[in-house]
Amino acid sequence: MVCARLHHSFIATATTATTATVPARCRCRGRGRARNPAPRLGAFFSSLVSSSRDRGEMGDDGPSKGSEVVVDDRHSLDRKIDAIRKAGPQKLQVIADFDATLTRYWVNGRRGQSSHGLLQQGNPEYDAKRQQLYEYYHPLEFSPTIPIDEKTKLMEEWWEKTHALLVEGGLSYDDIKKSVASANIAFREGVVELFEFLEERGIPILIFSAGLADIIEEVLRQKLHRSFRNIRIVSNRMEFDNDGRLISFKGRTIHSLNKNEHALDMAAPLHEQLGDANGPVDDSVSVKMRTNVLLLGDHIGDLGMSDGLNYETRISLGFLNDNIDGSIDSYCKAFDVVYLNDFPMWGVLELATQLLPAEAT
Ligand SMILES: [Mg+2]
Repeated sequence: MVCARLHHSFIATATTATTATVPARCRCRGRGRARNPAPRLGAFFSSLVSSSRDRGEMGDDGPSKGSEVVVDDRHSLDRKIDAIRKAGPQKLQVIADFDATLTRYWVNGRRGQSSHGLLQQGNPEYDAKRQQLYEYYHPLEFSPTIPIDEKTKLMEEWWEKTHALLVEGGLSYDDIKKSVASANIAFREGVVELFEFLEERGIPILIFSAGLADIIEEVLRQKLHRSFRNIRIVSNRMEFDNDGRLISFKGRTIHSLNKNEHALDMAAPLHEQLGDANGPVDDSVSVKMRTNVLLLGDHIGDLGMSDGLNYETRISLGFLNDNIDGSIDSYCKAFDVVYLNDFPMWGVLELATQLLPAEAT
């Protein structure tokens, strides 16, 4: 175990980490180089750190006992931060998973719902049929004995059957609105501030999900109450008739095991659906020119989201929400920074301020 658990926040790690915060069994390579956030935001972050610490200690939102940040190789992370900062904002993009990455794992003391899981068709028979598929295929998805090519076929089968049931059962756009309104789903604290910070600096955010684009957009609308010109969503997209009835799905099915293919080619601008008159801020070609990546995910497989990009420097941020003791080592090896216990987005925002200092924007 070479990972260092650094309590409370990335900024705490960077500015105030002491050996007292690191469990004796953990060692961190190269820990301790002080970095300050952009001066304009310094006081802002100090207050945020306090609030996240307080919230973690309250422990009133699920079984999380506190908040922690883990950096396996501090020197490597520092090198990547320097490289991305020197390359400038025009080279950077953010690629983020949606479920349990941008959204919280625990909401109101219960597991937060996913963009697939929250959907109620307004037809109990079909909701039950989709649940039956879940009960059959979900264990197969995590089976250690099924070869990956066979498993990929099973996942395609599951997603396509589920999508067919949504069409057959008569899903309407109104069902989506109602489902989102009553769903147990919430963004992590700091997501809006992160989106705003990146939008102000013209940094594109690609939300890449095996869920449902139309639902993700509705969650953004209902929970954030505004649109962002720099966000685009790559996910399974529905097609509705003039009466708002689902008639088909567009393009190739994205499931949990092919999130790494054709990501940028499948990107579609979110603001089209949100009625933003300013049009796309970037096309897929120019996004491909942005060869420095800040990647956010909650599964190791999410690292594949940048496979379609020949990136120069990637900083990967992993949210480890569950089974922490069993997964911490593999997450430490896979991600540059690992956030434990449903950590809020303030650490990512602070890192973004390091990558995009005020004088460079
Ligand atoms: Mg996820």
